[in-house]
Amino acid sequence: MNWSLIIVFTLISLSEGVAQQAYKRTFRLMGSRFDITVVADDSSKANYFIDVAVDEISRIEKLISSWDQKSQTSEINRNAGIRPVQVDVELLQLIERSIGLSKLTDGAFDISYASMDRIWKFDGSMTEMPGENEIRTSVEKVGYKKIVLNQNESTVYLKVKGMKLGFGAIGKGYAADKAKELLIEMGVAAGIINASGDMATWGKQANGSDWKVAITNPLDKNKAFALLPVSDGAVVTSGDYEKYVNFNGKRYTHIIDPRTGYPSSGIISVTVFAPKAELADALATSIFVMGKDVGLDRVNQLPAIECIIIDEHGNIHSSKNITINPNVE
Ligand code: ADP
Ligand code: MG
Repeated sequence: MNWSLIIVFTLISLSEGVAQQAYKRTFRLMGSRFDITVVADDSSKANYFIDVAVDEISRIEKLISSWDQKSQTSEINRNAGIRPVQVDVELLQLIERSIGLSKLTDGAFDISYASMDRIWKFDGSMTEMPGENEIRTSVEKVGYKKIVLNQNESTVYLKVKGMKLGFGAIGKGYAADKAKELLIEMGVAAGIINASGDMATWGKQANGSDWKVAITNPLDKNKAFALLPVSDGAVVTSGDYEKYVNFNGKRYTHIIDPRTGYPSSGIISVTVFAPKAELADALATSIFVMGKDVGLDRVNQLPAIECIIIDEHGNIHSSKNITINPNVE
């Protein structure tokens, strides 16, 4: 998350006689930290653009949040096993793409994982491992195949009572993409929307060079092991060190395998490079569940996607087109 990615950028440069500069502001949105950077001529223009991005992200949060009882997502969840709920096309399409990602990852990614939030808690409140029965019962309420979409009526229906959708693994990436799109439409030449480690970037730094992302080893936060250039693409790191529990000497992360009901283990950090933050966000979460070997294999088959995985022993694994410069500090 924030510790894992440090943006290195140069502040001032000259382009066609106009001094352009990178301006950055930090916000709390979607329950997470957002750092929004835009390259602009002056601070008042920059502030205006950043405000537009914040409004867009807040709009999306209102639509998709499963915490906000007034959102359409909560309405879908409340009506699980009862009736289909009519929603905005935007939400319907996000759910449709999420189901596509479930198919792509053999069910490792699943927005209906959310009912398992009731038995797994990663805020320190869990004192013992949930029982096998409890886990088995919760898995029955999970499964993207039990989400019924009706495009003509724009409705969503969850077949099983107690089923629940949550966009924790894709929402921030989606919001970052949408804010980026809007700022590009408004003529902003370059910027970064960083949603707690989910980054959508476009254009170049004010000095004309690519944005660079430093990736640190979570086991040794002070050392960056790679400094990678990004332009017009997304970089997402998943791996939240505050959200895990230890049982019987094993560390369980807040990412749950929807097929078994057990949290994933073995990987501590995944960074994915992709054209869109939405896809990168979903894939990063999925790789935790799929594990190192299946995850790397899947990524190596996808065009324009790369990843770096750090396993629980601190070993680094990367997809075939990534060259890591090991000497960056
Ligand atoms: P982070 O926000 O820590 O970077 P992710 O983007 O990987 O993490 O998303 C993790 C969140 O996604 C979890 O907190 C939970 O809300 C949700 N989630 C957990 N397991 C799954 C899963 N298998 N498929 C989809 N979403 C999941
Ligand atoms: Mg994710």
